[in-house]
Amino acid sequence: MSSTLLTGLAELITNDPGMGDGGPLGLVSDGALVLEEEVVCWVGEAGAAPAADARVAFDGRVALPGFVDSHSHLVFAGDRSCEFAARMSGQTYSAGGIAATVAATRAASDAQLRAGAGRLAAEMLRQGTTTVEIKSGYGLTVADELRSLRVAADLTAETTWLGAHVVPPEYAGRRSAYLDLLLGPMVTACAPHARWVDVFCDRGAFDADETRAVLAAGMARGLVPRLHANQLEQGPGVQIAVEVDAASVDHCTYLSQADVAALAGSNTVATLLPGAEFSTRSPYLDARRLLAAGVTVAVATDCNPGSSYTSSMPFCVALAVRDMQLTPAEALWAATAGGAKALRRSDIGVLKVGSHANVAVLDAPSYVHLAYRPGVPLVHAVWQRGRQVV
Ligand SMILES: [Zn+2]
Repeated sequence: MSSTLLTGLAELITNDPGMGDGGPLGLVSDGALVLEEEVVCWVGEAGAAPAADARVAFDGRVALPGFVDSHSHLVFAGDRSCEFAARMSGQTYSAGGIAATVAATRAASDAQLRAGAGRLAAEMLRQGTTTVEIKSGYGLTVADELRSLRVAADLTAETTWLGAHVVPPEYAGRRSAYLDLLLGPMVTACAPHARWVDVFCDRGAFDADETRAVLAAGMARGLVPRLHANQLEQGPGVQIAVEVDAASVDHCTYLSQADVAALAGSNTVATLLPGAEFSTRSPYLDARRLLAAGVTVAVATDCNPGSSYTSSMPFCVALAVRDMQLTPAEALWAATAGGAKALRRSDIGVLKVGSHANVAVLDAPSYVHLAYRPGVPLVHAVWQRGRQVV
């Protein structure tokens, strides 16, 4: 067994309300923690820290649990920068642009898909993300969804089957035939390679009945539901998410009061994806509506080539603060502990004895700098499962 003491931390964010200032972030001033093998084995004030085999002094920096990015689409090929430029010239976003990525993904080799996803996952790690959820959804054939999930599984345990992303072009005018594929051969082939089932329930994607059917098929094979919903307009998605006890409903750009009330009484996290609002120039949700009602909120990147091509959790934290009205503390919690809840995990997104030794250290004296200094590469060091990776 070998142990490492991280000390000299001006602020240690634990997300354990039993620690430090007693707030939701469990902020310990002049903090330290000890990592042993893959887990945290001690947390507290630097003056009380035990000896360890190795010692790293951080001279007044901030340590926090590695970011938990609970929503990404890293397995794809191609580039949609022209579509982005057109949108920034005034065109509006629709779900149809996904077809361009589907065509490029199908045409790519396995090695190209692996290299692309691996590059983005490495980019995330450098920005402090130590856990990422990765979806399929740009294959949309049995074989291409299956290989997308295999590529994802090399990078994370949090793999999601999103065969119901859009109806692919070859099924235009034959929706029911694509539903038959999803509910039969595709779910059967994909379920063993995924933890989660997801559906894009929105205008131009899948309706309420189709969404319920796909979720039920996944759940019947042991997958746990999560949902893309209410990105483009108010719709039935949030209510369906609550009805099936989904771990999370993601986007939530357009919410009715009934949606907020349903989430408040549920075990379903509302995951905000401010990078999508940014990149599609859409209105931002006022997240205070959710917090005031008692809804659990997460923040994630939605990293994908169409509507949010950022891999940066610090950038999304800054957007959530600036444009969704979260405080810096709430946004940081949502990007760490909130993401963990959206993945129904209690071993990540927190720094306490026994949790995964996933730590990001910022070259800043306060976590507030994540939003105060947007676009600045503040991440100074990262440990993932006890191994220093940055
Ligand atoms: Zn998404």
